[in-house]
Amino acid sequence: MKIDLRKAKSERLFIKEDLELDIPEVTDPVSVDLKVYESNQIFVLRGKMDVTYSLNCSRCLTRFEREETLDLFLVFKYENTRNKNVKEKEIDEDEINVIFIEQSVIDITEYIINEIMLNIPIKVLCKEDCKGLCPICGTDLNEGSCDCKKEKVDERMKQLEDIKKRMFDKKE
Ligand SMILES: [Zn+2]
Ligand SMILES: [Zn+2]
Repeated sequence: MKIDLRKAKSERLFIKEDLELDIPEVTDPVSVDLKVYESNQIFVLRGKMDVTYSLNCSRCLTRFEREETLDLFLVFKYENTRNKNVKEKEIDEDEINVIFIEQSVIDITEYIINEIMLNIPIKVLCKEDCKGLCPICGTDLNEGSCDCKKEKVDERMKQLEDIKKRMFDKKE
């Protein structure tokens, strides 16, 4: 996604673009909504991105989609102004990551990809009460039941009953 910063010199620049990105977790185009403005040779890009993540449930492994809105905030400054004392210091460079550039046309795709990658949700569930897979036969318990779990519980219950019975017998 390329931006010509010269266009942002006289007035604010509004950019809307749908981006096809090469990220396995993102299948739909990412819609980027940006405002670009300039102040004392410093270019501030601020906006939002709507991202549809395609994820695998960490319990049942089903693929599902989740929409997230991410903030985008980038600050660019021309290299030749690096050591110049800007009169009105509007940006504290220690706190904000300023990206130094030499050219007027910049490509922000890399920064967008970084932001999206950093925000990939981990350990996610397809739904809050996902029942997961049966650890024995692998049946998706959201879609159906199997016999293995039931038998196991029954077996445990039986053992408990036996213990109870024995204790009871001893008492008598
Ligand atoms: Zn699930
Ligand atoms: Zn099973």
